[in-house]
Amino acid sequence: MQRPPIKHCRECGTPVQYRLPDDGDTRERAICSACDTVHYENPLNVVGTVPWLGDRVLLCKRNIEPRWGKWTLPAGFMELGETTAQGAARETREEAGALFELEDLFTVMSVPRVGQVHLYYRARLTSEVFDPGHETLEARLFAEHEIPWEELAFRTVRETLQRYFADRKAGRFGTHAFDIE
Ligand code: ZN
Repeated sequence: MQRPPIKHCRECGTPVQYRLPDDGDTRERAICSACDTVHYENPLNVVGTVPWLGDRVLLCKRNIEPRWGKWTLPAGFMELGETTAQGAARETREEAGALFELEDLFTVMSVPRVGQVHLYYRARLTSEVFDPGHETLEARLFAEHEIPWEELAFRTVRETLQRYFADRKAGRFGTHAFDIE
């Protein structure tokens, strides 16, 4: 899941070398030997939702790699030009075909090992009818005791669901920021 190193310059196509830039930067960067362009790489944002209805939560069975056939909350990479909330809503429409009202930010998880930040919003479903897109084999609602904990696609999904059901029991939803090593 870690991104592969950059091989060629984005400006001119010449192979790049990883080395320290001359400006005092302390990290090795992909630098073009022809045009000297320095390619900075920074974490990507993954945005999604916890869609809920009554005591149940919507999960999607993945029809794409990685983790084909495993269950996930609707989520994906944020696109340029959109906000985190817009991205989370878009992914929820695309992957589940769900109707919902977006609520508050629920989890913010740094995953430095893969250079990502994951953000999940709660989303109140306004219909039980789903129309999943091509990335999803099946979209359905699960009560807490029905959640396929051993068949979840990602640790960020498991951690978010655990906090969701804990907060639901406590009768109060917070925003949880934490790191996943
Ligand atoms: Zn170049």
